[in-house]
Amino acid sequence: MNSKAIPYGRQTITEGDIEAVVSILRSDFLTQGPSIAAFEEKFANYIGSKYAVALANGTAALHLCAMALNVNEKSRVITTSITFAASANCVRYCGGEVFFADIDPETFLLDINKVRALLEKHPKGYFQGILPVDFAGNTVNLEAFRKLADEFGCWIIEDACHAPGGYFIDSNNKKQKCGNGNFADLAIFSFHPVKHIATGEGGMITTNNKALYEKLLLLRTHGITKDPGKYKNSTDEVAQGGWYYEMQELGYNYRLTDIQAALGISQLERADENLERRRTIARKYDAAFKNSDIIKPISFEGNAYHLYVIQIKSRLALYDHLRANNIFPQVHYVPAHLMPYYKQFGHKKGDLPNAEAYYEKCLSIPMYHSLTDEDQEYVISTILNFIKK
Ligand SMILES: *Cc1c(COP(=O)(O)O)cnc(C)c1O
Repeated sequence: MNSKAIPYGRQTITEGDIEAVVSILRSDFLTQGPSIAAFEEKFANYIGSKYAVALANGTAALHLCAMALNVNEKSRVITTSITFAASANCVRYCGGEVFFADIDPETFLLDINKVRALLEKHPKGYFQGILPVDFAGNTVNLEAFRKLADEFGCWIIEDACHAPGGYFIDSNNKKQKCGNGNFADLAIFSFHPVKHIATGEGGMITTNNKALYEKLLLLRTHGITKDPGKYKNSTDEVAQGGWYYEMQELGYNYRLTDIQAALGISQLERADENLERRRTIARKYDAAFKNSDIIKPISFEGNAYHLYVIQIKSRLALYDHLRANNIFPQVHYVPAHLMPYYKQFGHKKGDLPNAEAYYEKCLSIPMYHSLTDEDQEYVISTILNFIKK
């Protein structure tokens, strides 16, 4: 047995990362300094969007997206059940109602035909938004979703946490990078240690919409502006003196620190190389499981491989077998509509047959850029030995 535990995902920290963090600790700004803007600019360049807003974590990013799009008690939003609960929760933070549509059984992404069917069942204006998730690293076809959203007057928030660097092929045969702002109104990313880029906690919103961008900047820091050109109070009231600032909206403190931003910048420099490594690992898994009729892996062009998900009937037994051999797989995800919190709104087993069938068999096996060839071979042989029995 392997003496070292192999998780399903983990971060990689280099000496360069450590030096970047230490240099911030020695500088004048631990937060609200120049590293934030630098990280935002580099991230926007990498993703191909006009704007980027750094935030405390991916959940805060989702919350601010919902706020910026005016989600409220009257809002209805459609999303997928096969995602981390935070994707749906952001609608609830603002009092809106969550509708789950089923997944496509081939891609495990939100099924656009199911979304269309739900939209067509109600009068126009009934739904305000669609929130697709680039699950496992596969970028949703946002061109198709944009057309549908426009038909029904909906906005789109893309939960792109799994797919930085991923892309889909549009109708002109062009690569469209996830989160690039060409189709979704807003896209969000997370820098939790299991994601592609790790800053401890951290998140980012990307967009091409200037008005939304400016609103997000305001909401990120208490709804406060220090820009005299934007003040609503007049100078003869209270708006005079260099100390003056103005709170215009009910915002939050959702800022990222400069310590984290410096780590993010350093990590981002290796993003392409890490993505290539993830794809190499995926191709090796694909080849290893190709002839198995028990295991059904998923690989699609443009996949950024946050996760490598296999589907196997005897999932629980394999899960236990791997853990007994010091390999720690995970299940992504327990469907959100079956969580007690969402069940109280009437969601129940049987609502989403494809999502539920997927959940019965899915298992995420180790996938991270620092997974060594040796460790991957050990994972493969442990799985193949199990299915031979
Ligand atoms: C990680 C993740 C989030 C939340 O990000 P945090 O930074 O942990 O708050 C949201 N959605 C998806 C799909 C995620 O994987």
